[in-house]
Amino acid sequence: MSLLEKDKEFVWHPFTQYQTAGDPLVIVKGDRHYLIDEDGKKYIDANSSWWTNVHGHSNPYLAEKVYKQFLELDHSIFAGATHPVAIEISERLIKLLKRDFKKVFFSDNGSTSTEVALKMAFQYWYNQGDSKRKRMLALEGAYHGDTFGAMSVGQRGYFNKPFEHLFFDVDFIPFPTEENKEEVFQKLEDLFASGEFAGFIFEPLVQGSAGMRMYSPEILEKMVSIAKKHKVITIADEVMTGFGRTGKMFAIDHIETSPDIICLSKGITGGSLPIGITVTSQSMFDAFLDEDTTKGLLHGHSYTGNALCCAAVSASLDLFEKDETWEVINLISKMNADFLEEMKDHPRVRTIRMQGTIMAFEVETGGESNYFSNIKQMAMDYFIENGIHLRPLGNVIFLNPPYTITKEDLEKCYQKFRDFLNEKM
Ligand SMILES: *Cc1c(COP(=O)(O)O)cnc(C)c1O
Repeated sequence: MSLLEKDKEFVWHPFTQYQTAGDPLVIVKGDRHYLIDEDGKKYIDANSSWWTNVHGHSNPYLAEKVYKQFLELDHSIFAGATHPVAIEISERLIKLLKRDFKKVFFSDNGSTSTEVALKMAFQYWYNQGDSKRKRMLALEGAYHGDTFGAMSVGQRGYFNKPFEHLFFDVDFIPFPTEENKEEVFQKLEDLFASGEFAGFIFEPLVQGSAGMRMYSPEILEKMVSIAKKHKVITIADEVMTGFGRTGKMFAIDHIETSPDIICLSKGITGGSLPIGITVTSQSMFDAFLDEDTTKGLLHGHSYTGNALCCAAVSASLDLFEKDETWEVINLISKMNADFLEEMKDHPRVRTIRMQGTIMAFEVETGGESNYFSNIKQMAMDYFIENGIHLRPLGNVIFLNPPYTITKEDLEKCYQKFRDFLNEKM
């Protein structure tokens, strides 16, 4: 049996309707920003393998550091025990995040990093005997992961219909734009004035799964400050936006105000190993101190604080200290801006937007844009054919490549985007 046949026999892939899905690509190698299939064909990993990869695939520096850690300590229990590399990366992350951030909580992926944040926010009020602050606010179009808590604060309707009756009650406000922002701010004021909100969770600056929808730092600043004024715990889900994606290390580096909790995953290990991190302040942490054990944050996973994952974080942070990494981030940002300028009036482009290393355009299809828009498969096939691996969000085609991509390969991506729009649409 071929690999593909065996895959079909034994594997159940994520986000896949088997009745209609095509065959998966069999990827046997990763090299910098390329994925390489069984036949040796190379693809530019234009979406960084689900937005995770930042330092290129099979990065030798990451590999070396993880390997050395493996020989030293692979994993140890993390309740009642600790280890050097977890301590090291906690200190480094706190220094990078600045502001009031003080405590790092470990889990396994992006969804768990937001679950933990939600539990922190709810329990913060519970521990203080506040029985009124029990509601959570989120933005329409939000995506915070696929576990139940994370799904509860996500956009209802598309993916999660079968489970909706199980979700906790969440209020949603419209996605903020330049047109509706005053209404959104007023709505926040009105909702928070009730004193019923424990927290407000949002993707700062860029809503990923909703189709790389973007809003300005000014709007973010204002939303966070309104929440803070009403003592609502603000949770910035930087799982996608963190680690250079928005042109700065974190999306919150574009604003002055500090959220109370920040969620990190995806790019944090350079895209090599899974880890989730939830960071918060000393004052949040202090609200969990009590003689009563149950007032502690009684949450954990078997692999919490895994030393290999921590070593990958450490290596990734080393690479972020190098000028070369930021040179590529700046190059991608600059070329994205030029492409946007060129394409903004293109007849087949409904809208185009960018923030740092993320560039997204909505293809004019005549109909509504949504995840299930039928250009998706056609676009994927076209780009695969042309040596570019990407996965549109409905009719939104986007680019967020690893920071090892070259000028030539970026140019190739833009050229294929032009060709696609001109020849296929
Ligand atoms: C991907 C993502 C998550 C979920 O992370 P997983 O590691 O896939 O569980 C949460 N929030 C945002 C903003 C994301 O983009």
